[in-house]
Amino acid sequence: MARRVRQLGGARSRDQQVGGDGRPGDATAADEAVAAATAAHVRGVWRLTPPAERARILDAIADNLAARFDELTALQVRENGATARSAGAFLLGYSIAHLKYFASLARSYAFEETGPLIEAPTLAAGVLRREPIGVCAGIVPWNFPLLLAVWKLGPALAAGNTIVLKPDDQTPLTLLELAGAADEAGLPAGVLNVVTGPGPVVGARLAEHPDVRKVAFTGSTEVGKTVMRAAAGNVKKVTLELGGKGANIVCDDADLDLAVDGTLFGFLLMCGQACESGTRLLLHASIHDEFVRRLVARASTLVVGDPMDAATDVGPLISAKQKARVEKYVALGQEEGCKIAFQGATPTAPDLADGHWVAPTILTGATNDMRVAREEIFGPVLVVIKCADDAEAVAIANDSEYGLSAGVWSTDNERALAIARELESGTVWINDWHMVNAMYPFGGVKQSGLGRELGPGALDEYTEQKFVHLDMANDRAKRVYAVVVPPAAAGRA
Ligand code: NAD
Repeated sequence: MARRVRQLGGARSRDQQVGGDGRPGDATAADEAVAAATAAHVRGVWRLTPPAERARILDAIADNLAARFDELTALQVRENGATARSAGAFLLGYSIAHLKYFASLARSYAFEETGPLIEAPTLAAGVLRREPIGVCAGIVPWNFPLLLAVWKLGPALAAGNTIVLKPDDQTPLTLLELAGAADEAGLPAGVLNVVTGPGPVVGARLAEHPDVRKVAFTGSTEVGKTVMRAAAGNVKKVTLELGGKGANIVCDDADLDLAVDGTLFGFLLMCGQACESGTRLLLHASIHDEFVRRLVARASTLVVGDPMDAATDVGPLISAKQKARVEKYVALGQEEGCKIAFQGATPTAPDLADGHWVAPTILTGATNDMRVAREEIFGPVLVVIKCADDAEAVAIANDSEYGLSAGVWSTDNERALAIARELESGTVWINDWHMVNAMYPFGGVKQSGLGRELGPGALDEYTEQKFVHLDMANDRAKRVYAVVVPPAAAGRA
């Protein structure tokens, strides 16, 4: 059967060539995908499909992914080294649940509603329509490719847009499977297009393309700024989910063992390659030494190894380039005056020798002016900073160009909430970390991003509002037009 969902470009994995039509993804492939998405939008094959039917197809895509749960979990592990434990229930589970949430939004969203009556000068009805924007582009990074693509595909399709998705060239596999799942679900031709290939070529073309009306980007702050500049060419709508340097505040009344587990989870999920990681640990002085002692003891029990193994806590990094970057920061932290309080072991088994291993590392004695405390490392490195009290913890937490995530550990909910209110951050977790929920928005403040994904407002980011004024009087005598009605007559109103 011919595929309705287009896959352009040769997707390259570490060990095989898969998908697409075999050509390397390039600017021409991006143009072809945009042309297909534009034609589908103009034909109305999706925007004129009733929202309930759009919801049904989104649900079917989710069901198709769920039906291949084990296979797709393993594929995510192969694709970027996510541990099987995180790739299954967490990443694939979220992808399925979030698609279903977007389907539910399609069913409940106010695509057209009548507003308050307009009474002057003549009676009119106000109709508010929320219409699809047109062709959207979704550019996603390598750390959570499937989930972050779902966060773009879901609301874009729920709202009636067409979309071109571009995975990172290191991780195209799960997006090609997503395209297959959409094809099997009956998504019409041209509505979803996946183009693989290099970011500076394919991603850049999508960001500047005059027929793309919205670009949703997840990735580094640096590239996000490039995308925003390119989007200015035709004043695209833009959503940016960028970097972070999450401040994790442990108060002196925290449940220390709970906070130790949460701190490790907070900075080690995906081997630290997660934008929302808690990478700056702000410890109240009175518990600093005891907390570090318990943290190191617990960290030394973690298993670093084969990501396929269900016993593994921490897997490898994505690439040699990322490994070199993280190691550079560990060395820099020492040069800046930090002490290595903990550095775990990396696997020694011969069959794992070609993995890009960096051991979980805890740097103590940091101050917030150090580069290791200010820059996103994107690896398994935690920087520990001592603070005097809640006020100083908040001040340090907010002293950052980033504002994606933060956390507070305390047994006093009122105290934790008071701190949360002061934090400049798109998300604050209290006594938890990494818990995103489709019903609530996700995104960053400051240089962590623009706009929000997820939550009840997710479709607002993929719709244009249209006001329709519907005159009910149809009475020429009551008109007060400033141009065609003489002053005396106009004055009567
Ligand atoms: P990246 O910015 O290098 O790449 C992200 C995507 O952009 C990839 O698909 C890449 O091919 C593409 N790209 C690269 N150059 C481009 C260009 N000039 N024009 C258009 N597209 C281009 O990021 P990365 O290193 O792959 O991912 C890590 C970064 O992503 C980290 O900074 C991390 O914090 C961030 N991130 C943020 C979130 C979030 O939700 N805020 C989620 C995951 C990752």
